[in-house]
Amino acid sequence: TADMAMTRAKQAGRNNFQFYTAAMDTQALERLRIENQLRHALVNEEFVLHYQPKVELSSGRVVSMEALVRWQKPDGAMVPPGVFIPVAEETALIGPMGDWILRAACLQTRQWVESGYDHLRVAVNISARQFQQRDFVQQVQAVLEDTGLNPRHLELEITESLMMVDVEQAIESLSQLKALGLCMSVDDFGTGYSSLSYLKRFPIHALKIDQSFVREITTDADDAAIVSAIVSMAHNLNLEVVAEGVETAEHLEFLKKLQCEEIQGYYFSKPLDAKAFTELLKSGRSL
Ligand code: C2E
Ligand code: MG
Ligand code: MG
Ligand code: MG
Repeated sequence: TADMAMTRAKQAGRNNFQFYTAAMDTQALERLRIENQLRHALVNEEFVLHYQPKVELSSGRVVSMEALVRWQKPDGAMVPPGVFIPVAEETALIGPMGDWILRAACLQTRQWVESGYDHLRVAVNISARQFQQRDFVQQVQAVLEDTGLNPRHLELEITESLMMVDVEQAIESLSQLKALGLCMSVDDFGTGYSSLSYLKRFPIHALKIDQSFVREITTDADDAAIVSAIVSMAHNLNLEVVAEGVETAEHLEFLKKLQCEEIQGYYFSKPLDAKAFTELLKSGRSL
């Protein structure tokens, strides 16, 4: 509760001989306020998934879609994940929320697969605390069984920095997930500190180059060099490359020349709600 958290904050402050400031009050309270709202939001089913297509460059076709969670408040406001995922991460809420996200993404994808889009794969972002739960692999297995989605239609996106927290544990979990029949990609690649020797040991199928590099590939020679190096390294390790944050025709041209496998970004499409994504599929639009 708010009072307990305030007391804890005050005690922590005293023990560290820190000054107890009004700013700390405001921050702790704001966090608690969001936490309580999130708890209600979960019960009231206020979360929605949007889907952003990933396009295969060789064919121009939509081959997969990333599920991105949004919080649709009763007043209509749409809250982006950057605001509430970190709060959920700091509390036990990420457990049920992550489970809901995975289930919703698998259910929706099963519907798309059953209506004839059998080539599609859904990519679900997994947060740190979720991945580190001891029974994470069993949870994924349970969701697949409950929703009836064939594992080949599921991909998990795990950030580079998260994979590096406990390398041996990560390799173990990823191997078990791979054995279930799904595939894994490394999200935000380039922003962490993976060593190449580890990369080789991870049972992953793709690297997603972080949008911060892609943004400047046509204007910043360093970013262009970094992206080229990542793509050729990935290909030498038999990994596919997905570039995120592709916003312009120039970005696209550059990535085509490098023979990057897939792109994702506003140039082709913003994240869409399920209805709009279905329309996109029906339209057959390609790159
Ligand atoms: P991410 O996984 O790296 O997702 C990419 C983010 O970039 C998304 O923001 C997406 O909307 C945005 N984006 C896509 N194309 C472009 C583009 O061309 N230009 C620009 N400037 N941005 C683009 P979003 O949806 O706000 O998500 C932000 C982050 O929140 C995600 O980064 C991911 O780390 C996290 N997140 C989103 N959904 C979930 C979820 O369901 N579970 C977890 N654990 N984390 C999630
Ligand atoms: Mg992602
Ligand atoms: Mg990403
Ligand atoms: Mg990113």
